Amino acid sequence: MIVYKINQFINMKFCFLLLLISHTSFMLTGQSIDSAEYSMNFLIKDVKVFTNNQLIANQDVLVKEGSIVEIRKGIEDNIPRINGTGKTLIPGLTNAHVHAWIPYHLVNALQFGVYTLIDLHSLNEISNQLKALNLKDGYANLYAAGYAATVSGGHGTQFGFQVPVIGKGNNCYQFIDQQVAAGLDHIKIIYEPARATLQLTQIDSLIQRAHHYKKKVIVHISNAKEALDVARLGADGLAHIWRDRPMTTAERIEFSELETFVIPTLTVLEKGLAYKKEKKMANKGMRMAEILEEVKLLHDLGVTLLAGTDPPNFELDYGRSLHRELALLKAAGLSTVEVLRTTTSNIEKALNYHSFSIEKGAKANFILLQGDIEKDVSISKLIASKWVEGTVMNNPE
Ligand SMILES: [Zn+2]
Repeated sequence: MIVYKINQFINMKFCFLLLLISHTSFMLTGQSIDSAEYSMNFLIKDVKVFTNNQLIANQDVLVKEGSIVEIRKGIEDNIPRINGTGKTLIPGLTNAHVHAWIPYHLVNALQFGVYTLIDLHSLNEISNQLKALNLKDGYANLYAAGYAATVSGGHGTQFGFQVPVIGKGNNCYQFIDQQVAAGLDHIKIIYEPARATLQLTQIDSLIQRAHHYKKKVIVHISNAKEALDVARLGADGLAHIWRDRPMTTAERIEFSELETFVIPTLTVLEKGLAYKKEKKMANKGMRMAEILEEVKLLHDLGVTLLAGTDPPNFELDYGRSLHRELALLKAAGLSTVEVLRTTTSNIEKALNYHSFSIEKGAKANFILLQGDIEKDVSISKLIASKWVEGTVMNNPE
């Protein structure tokens, strides 16, 4: 969003292979070796489980050959069992707004139960290299935009790497064609009038062309008016919630009817506000409490919300920060189940990307939490064990 710690970009391409090798070996040694009881066949007894988009207490989850074969109360099977009493089983999570450019970012995510990352502006080549890494080797899955669409001197050009820019002539179609040809998953557009920025007519062309290829479009905005403007043009999602002012009731209703999803990125906004306070800078926009209230009003109008945190801005990480986002969404007034949806099933609903779920027939890609998430959502970061396709992976720390 604002300030990248971009030193990591220096010699990034050179570093890529080195990091790939070092982190692969790190993850191999990080896997449990005394996990006989946690084989590909196991039974988790008496656990609260997030399944079918609901939290259901006192369930048994039977896994065979790495896949979930049954979820119900009272399963008996003569295989290793794990006591789930007082614990919660949730699927691998998704962080829907990141900027990833080294393999470690994907490792860092998975360490904290984030199995999928959605990148919203990086380099095409780097994104494609990262997308080739595997969950089973300890790397989170990645869906990526590659380069965001911006203009010369616009937001997105200040981070120390060359990005293609949209000129005054209409090369919008050409930009989209290039991103699609490069194999990227979705399109990111930057609309940020605090700097030089795209015209709405250009954003219109970009969205139309992306939709011609059936690619989803996520637009960076900062202000309420711009949010509504791009929603009217058919933007599929917003990369932040607006923070200048609350929408009027009429604006908010219109926005909700346009069915544009929102990735509020409360964690990075919270950091931004703390930074301003520390530097004694005036906050001309909404206070945190007002931002949370706006999120709740959108939610009540049926706007789909996705959990994302926007690392590495303000030195946020790719995994742990997501748990702060979930806590903030809860603080905004969402129920625990609704919070869990923002990082699981809403991803699929909004973007048609695979999101992990705990259901019969699915691979065991899930996390056992130390505690009852309905009592305290912040226990989402207390990971007792996690599994990738039925294989247990050790906890961080
Ligand atoms: Zn961002």
